Amino acid sequence: MQPEQKQDKEMAKKKKKQNGHYCRICGDYKANEKFSGKGHAQHICKSCMSAMRSGKNPEDILPEPLPVNRETTRFKKLGKEEKAVLKAFISEVVTEYWQENRQIPFAESFSELKKYIIGTYDEECGILLKDDAELKTYFQTHMVTTINKLLKEENPENEG
Ligand SMILES: [Zn+2]
Repeated sequence: MQPEQKQDKEMAKKKKKQNGHYCRICGDYKANEKFSGKGHAQHICKSCMSAMRSGKNPEDILPEPLPVNRETTRFKKLGKEEKAVLKAFISEVVTEYWQENRQIPFAESFSELKKYIIGTYDEECGILLKDDAELKTYFQTHMVTTINKLLKEENPENEG
């Protein structure tokens, strides 16, 4: 292939609308089939997922490693608005997970979603939440509320 032809192809690629799914590890937009159900909810593509599974730390794959030893904020200390933002994040993540998997996140999935929420919250709000019992309880409670609401929306006739 001629170098200029290759360049044309690259440009055409760039012009194309990004309509895939975003992987937060490699930062690429990839087709939906490049994501497993669980990976979809976590925004991690299959290849990054398997890299992580083969023993690599997510930090090793991430272009910018997360700073360690940062000060954490306890859930209790969050203001009213900060809690509202967190609540919205939980709803969003749980809804996505529910639609992908049709099950309530538990055990490992639950921890992964919690980790994901803590990470996203840090990115969006600059607050690194302490992964304590209060946060866990809040997440659990709001997760159940969210799923109940989704179920009700799916089956409005079920009441009464
Ligand atoms: Zn990836």
